[in-house]
Amino acid sequence: MHERDLAESFFSLYKSLPSIFRAPGRVNLIGEHTDYNEGFVLPCAIGFQTWVAIAPRDDHKLLIQSQNFPGKFEFDVRSLPEKRLGNWCDYVLGAASTLQKAGQPIEGANLLIKGEVPIGSGLSSSASVEVASALAFLHQNNRSLPMPEVARICREAENNFVGARVGIMDQFVSCLGQAGHALLLDCRSLESKMIPFPDEVSLVICNTMVKHAIAGGEYNARREECDEAVRLLSAYYGGIRALRDVSPEQLQARSSDLPSTIYQRALHVVSENQRVKDAVEALSRGDVDEVGRLMRESHRSLRDLFKVSSVELDVMVEAAEGLPGYRGGRMTGGGFGGCTVNLVDASEADSFAKQIAVRYQQKTGIQPDVYICFPADGAAAAQKSHSLTL
Ligand code: ADP
Ligand code: MG
Repeated sequence: MHERDLAESFFSLYKSLPSIFRAPGRVNLIGEHTDYNEGFVLPCAIGFQTWVAIAPRDDHKLLIQSQNFPGKFEFDVRSLPEKRLGNWCDYVLGAASTLQKAGQPIEGANLLIKGEVPIGSGLSSSASVEVASALAFLHQNNRSLPMPEVARICREAENNFVGARVGIMDQFVSCLGQAGHALLLDCRSLESKMIPFPDEVSLVICNTMVKHAIAGGEYNARREECDEAVRLLSAYYGGIRALRDVSPEQLQARSSDLPSTIYQRALHVVSENQRVKDAVEALSRGDVDEVGRLMRESHRSLRDLFKVSSVELDVMVEAAEGLPGYRGGRMTGGGFGGCTVNLVDASEADSFAKQIAVRYQQKTGIQPDVYICFPADGAAAAQKSHSLTL
């Protein structure tokens, strides 16, 4: 349905039929702020998509429009910008420019984008735009790349073109997610493993509707604190390149040698890596309650040790307690706002969604959005132009 509507809009705008590519947003079950410490994460792709429709032009222009944002952008593929313009189209342009730098041809094309991933809520609409755009550009130029390589290029676009120092998790799971599975990713080696996720459990994602302005600055500050922990610990232990290399025992043994803030940040990362491994083991035993317990523990650690939660996230996490079918949950994403992720028995998910919204609104005066999701498939071609008829 979405593809057909998008093809119709594309046709009325550009007078030709497009090929359409889609890529999903994601939610991270556990493993928060571990990615840039070269540790482990356990995200799922979710059913919300961004679609990118593309068709060739017979000149060198690249025209980009989105149904979700105003403005019509025009570039020349022979002189694409190398850095962000500070506009929404940076994520699309970043994919084109980074592909081109990696030696892929980019020819003139018309693009139209449509997204249903909530924007700016920590469900990674940005990665979904980058990935769907990259697939569209590759197809347009008769190229293909292995999905891990597409993820790597999209991450580079976000790091170097857009200028956001994100890890590779978002792009990776948007490319390689599988329905009914969470994806265990080793952020150092990029080895990944699909972990079956029980069908009778829903991922209920609760959007606090708040994003605090300090988020970006605090994110960078946490990264620096983690780097500082590595620098200090490597005076005692050889071979430490990242917090990933530090065992809980090693950290414990040096607790009084580190400034207390640095120790707390490191303690979160080191124990969060262990929680990811424990959650994978619990999932493989089908022990959803144990996964839920680990998620609650992860939230407390993010709140008290890593200090990236917010009043609204804490209210949303507490509001879930005691509701029928609730198995555990936590804040998800970088923090200071955005969403919580909750494991809820699928049979109770609708009533959980209604009740948590009422509880959150009573406490904060804010009406939250609540999404009931299941682990979904990663990016793919949605429709080729030759199979479209209007
Ligand atoms: P998040 O990834 O958490 O949703 P970001 O701030 O990282 O938030 O990315 C949001 C940005 O991604 C938007 O400001 C816009 O530039 C781009 N984007 C997301 N969805 C779309 C869309 N449907 N059309 C165009 N650009 C989009
Ligand atoms: Mg993003």
